Amino acid sequence: MTITSISLFRQWQPFRDGTYRCSGGRSAEGFDSTIVEIVTGDGAAGYGEMAPLGSFYDPAFAEGARAAMRELAPKLIGEKAAGIDAISRRMDLLLKGHPYAKSAVDMALWDLAGRRSGLSLATMTGGGEGDSVPLYRSLAQEMPEAMATRARKYIAEGYRRLQVKVGLDVREDIERLEAVRAAVPSDTVLFCDANGSWGTAETRQFLAATRAIDYALEQPCATYEENLAIRQACDRPLILDETIDSVDALLRALGDSLVDGITIKLARVGGLTKARLIRDVAVARNLKITIEDTGGAEIDTAAYSGLLLSTPEGLRQHTVDFHNWVTVSNAKADFRIAGGRMWLPEGPGLGVEVDRLALGEPVFSCST
Ligand SMILES: [Mg+2]
Repeated sequence: MTITSISLFRQWQPFRDGTYRCSGGRSAEGFDSTIVEIVTGDGAAGYGEMAPLGSFYDPAFAEGARAAMRELAPKLIGEKAAGIDAISRRMDLLLKGHPYAKSAVDMALWDLAGRRSGLSLATMTGGGEGDSVPLYRSLAQEMPEAMATRARKYIAEGYRRLQVKVGLDVREDIERLEAVRAAVPSDTVLFCDANGSWGTAETRQFLAATRAIDYALEQPCATYEENLAIRQACDRPLILDETIDSVDALLRALGDSLVDGITIKLARVGGLTKARLIRDVAVARNLKITIEDTGGAEIDTAAYSGLLLSTPEGLRQHTVDFHNWVTVSNAKADFRIAGGRMWLPEGPGLGVEVDRLALGEPVFSCST
């Protein structure tokens, strides 16, 4: 079946817990999400979603994504919707770079293929192992005691995996980790995520001061070279997130024995098709794998968690429940959360029923 129409919708998704703050005064009040609807000649529809975290997190911004999609979408009318890899290559040919702008289109094609075949995304991407995925909660940068209090709250809610945001003053960061570690049960899995905010000096200082604490270190420095420089000093699992923007980046990191685990974000790499390739290479090397995204609600959550469900259970790290971060919804979806795990909706494709009323009028449409 060929693509006969593509529509874009914009949904503002305010954060339930208020402003999301990062170092340097960077902040966001919510996700500026774009939802793509792709319709084929027989009237079937598939949906995808992409929302950057503000304009400061990745090289991506919401209006940029929509501008790129407006340019790209008319050129995809008439393409065979089932040829997902072929369309992925075509998008790269027609629009150089801008992977975030292609992610929602790619996701909508997977949704369509699943609805047509009656198969869930997890089944199509290799087969689900089990029926749930582990969740983590992120502890935003605050004073150490405030972070410890929040950590206790999340533990009481059933979470067993916490991400401690660090990357400010390194002495305070050490206190942050110590306060959180002391506040939670010893079997709580801790990740320290600096989001690339430290230099190599701060990273060495942090590692030396926290040697006795059990945690994994995520993206200490911004550049590939800086992370490579501190690898020898890092005597614990090193996870890269922001650096992993393509399969090339992963192959390079594997060649340098740089990573023990990776975080794949769908929008950053250009969608499910490319995320699956990166995931499969990581599986071949027994890396620990997180799959998530930069933002969104039910549609997006169903996509990244579906791909994580088809990742071998022993290699899965965790993911997030973005639809619970925001106060609005864009689909009916049977997510169930208990004991720090999330059970996924079971229907075909993404398994969600998109709420067209919640999306409002399209901001752009093109058709045959
Ligand atoms: Mg991260």
